[in-house]
Amino acid sequence: MSRFRMYPTREQEEQMLLHCAHARYVWNLAVEQHSHWRRWRKSAPGFAEQCRQLTEARRENEWLGAGNADVQQQALKDFAKAKNARFTSGFGEPTWRKKFRHEGFRVIGTDRVPECNEDGTPKLNAKTGKQVMGRSVVMQKLNRRWAQVKVPGCGWVRFRLSAKGKSAVLPDAKTFRVTFRYGQWHIAFAVTPEPTPAPGTGEVIGIDRGVKITAALSDGRTLNCPQLTTRERAQIRKHERRAARAKKSSPEKAAEYAKVARLKAREADRRKDWCEKTSTMLARTYDLIRFEKLNIKNMTRSAKGTVEQPGKNVAQKSGLNRAILAQGWGLLRQRAERKAPGRVEDVPAPYTSLRCSACGWIDKNSRKSQAEFVCSSCGFTCNADTNAATNVAAGQGGIPRPRRTAGAGGTTPPTQRSSVREPQPTWVGIPLF
Ligand SMILES: [Zn+2]
Repeated sequence: MSRFRMYPTREQEEQMLLHCAHARYVWNLAVEQHSHWRRWRKSAPGFAEQCRQLTEARRENEWLGAGNADVQQQALKDFAKAKNARFTSGFGEPTWRKKFRHEGFRVIGTDRVPECNEDGTPKLNAKTGKQVMGRSVVMQKLNRRWAQVKVPGCGWVRFRLSAKGKSAVLPDAKTFRVTFRYGQWHIAFAVTPEPTPAPGTGEVIGIDRGVKITAALSDGRTLNCPQLTTRERAQIRKHERRAARAKKSSPEKAAEYAKVARLKAREADRRKDWCEKTSTMLARTYDLIRFEKLNIKNMTRSAKGTVEQPGKNVAQKSGLNRAILAQGWGLLRQRAERKAPGRVEDVPAPYTSLRCSACGWIDKNSRKSQAEFVCSSCGFTCNADTNAATNVAAGQGGIPRPRRTAGAGGTTPPTQRSSVREPQPTWVGIPLF
């Protein structure tokens, strides 16, 4: 993916915000249609049917009809793609898009270019024998630093070519996506990066992801995702407090929130940058990259509970969730996979942090504290995260307890809860802010 910061003019910005609103509206309609689906009902409308409905809706709804039809149709296409990829993408079922949170739209290129086969011969339609025409984004490079792109209804919108060297070349893309978050516009071209060639050393690296140490490598290195400094965090709190005290819908309130947004954008940028650099380093130096298998979605589930049954330690858990999400665990793995396709593996995680990487003994007493691991069997001493990473590199999560299998016609007796459990966040002493 190549992503650049966009600098629209005031009028362009207004038009683009309208595009965002239309795309979000159409997407959410599609989500609603599909959420009505039940097993006994007939299937929810697919992409083609939705496009037909969109044409109708545009005729009846003046606000929608005034918008750009391509932008709205692309939102439906995005939804269809997300729906099809829901089991493999890691994002699950497509869900609601919220105002200010998920602002963006996709634009399909308007230039028509003849498509080619992989060997360079012109691609012909199998039935008619005519040349197949593909789409291409209309772009112009202005100088070494700036380029511009055609956005429907806005004319030329400028963006800054931030990457140096090779990647400063304009990407060859059929579509692009414009996003707006934390007061900044970005343009992203869907380009699959050239896979990084394996170094061919046969080296395997195991990575254990944690809150204290973002990524512990099995070679003993510990890598940390940059966070906001204490000062920056204090600034966020200060501006949030001022915003809360300002009069409703006053310009002061908006200005304070804009300052908060800028700081939060900085945090996200740092995280993304770190993930890109680290994943490139991993893809370049190791033949096989092993991550412990995490279900981040389940790990960061809220402890809020329901009104009737409120959960316990809600604030603590939400602090931990924030800490987990601030580490960019998912992004690191995702980017590594893209750069080293077929060279990334997931190792089931159950006992990676409790198993001794020297002798294989699994005992919860071996983990003395958050950082210290002393094997209760062989006395092997190691940093707890490095020990876990070594287990991951070996592809070992430890063997789950043997299960008493049921004989023919018998029933499986309920198994006892294992005494060997992952340390819980509250008693390993992770600071919860
Ligand atoms: Zn041991």
